[in-house]
Amino acid sequence: MKVLGPGATIGVLGGGQLGRMMAVTARQMGYRIVVLDPSPRCPTAQVSDGVVVGALDDLDAARHLAAQVDVITLDTEHVPADVLSALEEIVPVRPGASVLRTIQDRLVQKQFLDRIGLPQAVWAPADAAGLAKVGRPAIVKVRRAGYDGKGQVRIDPASDADAQLARLKGEPAVVEALVPFAREISVILARAASGEIRIYPIAENTHRRHILHTTRAPAPMPADGRARAEAIAVTVAEALGHIGVMAVELFELPGGQLLVNEIAPRTHNSGHYTYGACATSQFEQHVRAVCGLPLGDPRALSPAVMVNLIGDLWAAGPPSWQPVLERPEARLHLYGKDAPAPGRKMGHVVLLDEDTDRALVTAEHLIERLTSRT
Ligand code: ADP
Ligand code: MG
Repeated sequence: MKVLGPGATIGVLGGGQLGRMMAVTARQMGYRIVVLDPSPRCPTAQVSDGVVVGALDDLDAARHLAAQVDVITLDTEHVPADVLSALEEIVPVRPGASVLRTIQDRLVQKQFLDRIGLPQAVWAPADAAGLAKVGRPAIVKVRRAGYDGKGQVRIDPASDADAQLARLKGEPAVVEALVPFAREISVILARAASGEIRIYPIAENTHRRHILHTTRAPAPMPADGRARAEAIAVTVAEALGHIGVMAVELFELPGGQLLVNEIAPRTHNSGHYTYGACATSQFEQHVRAVCGLPLGDPRALSPAVMVNLIGDLWAAGPPSWQPVLERPEARLHLYGKDAPAPGRKMGHVVLLDEDTDRALVTAEHLIERLTSRT
């Protein structure tokens, strides 16, 4: 594969916070960035060399981007795989269209996981037979375009299934059994075009309202559990032929057994801690993989906790950041989004602390202070 050194131009499909953090890092390394997004003021465009304004399914706009860049990558898995296939005729696309075709439809992703023999929750297409097979409690998820718990409904033993399903507005969906997990973890790795793989310290994640709330890394974990989790992620990356950073979200059962929740073929919110806590951030690692450079060292320089800043904190206007800024171990990241909304990811804080139990307490304390504005 041709190596694209600093000076080359990277095209990014989608201009969210993942693209933004990658762009900051890429430009620091001397790359140029051009982004495709419907908004010229999106988080990535604010820190890019150029922006093509257009929807992610607008093939003409995507071709216009492709004509200006040396390689294309993405900030979201929701770019239609057909668009990526068309772009592959013009310029390398990493990860490729075939990876996205497998991931972006939850049903196809689950079939893929079954085919490669990885464990997951009992699941079925969300039709009458599928709902009966999975039983209750269950979670129904739309096949396409869901994120942060959007496009998901829970069906409890006592709930009115028809009313719950109506909330998905007839979108094709899958149903899966509710997993009584002990905790959620994620494995973030990078795979280079050469096949080289580097794995980050495993992240332990808590969610609120189906949105990532905190990540602690490294997750306290016995060596054998860590090895099993890493092996699952490596299996996924190799079976996909993925190039770039990838995350595998896992449920850990009380007995230690691991089930795959979902795969993200990109940098991941639970890897934000790597930006500051690791020798090579997930964003630099992604740039290295898509540009054909050797991968960097993913080793943690410090244990860390990340806490997300969700739009609800903006209900009475922008918070005062004093409580974060006055803590020497805290790094503030804001994504430059101008429309805070409940449930919207606006930024995050990384706490570098040898003692991650203490940092988790600090994280809650900070969120409380930002909420109460004192
Ligand atoms: P997304 O991250 O794309 O919104 P997920 O499938 O990861 O979708 O769901 C978000 C969160 O909802 C998960 O991290 C987990 O906390 C919870 N969740 C999803 N599916 C299940 C399940 N089958 N059992 C228990 N909790 C689930
Ligand atoms: Mg998820």
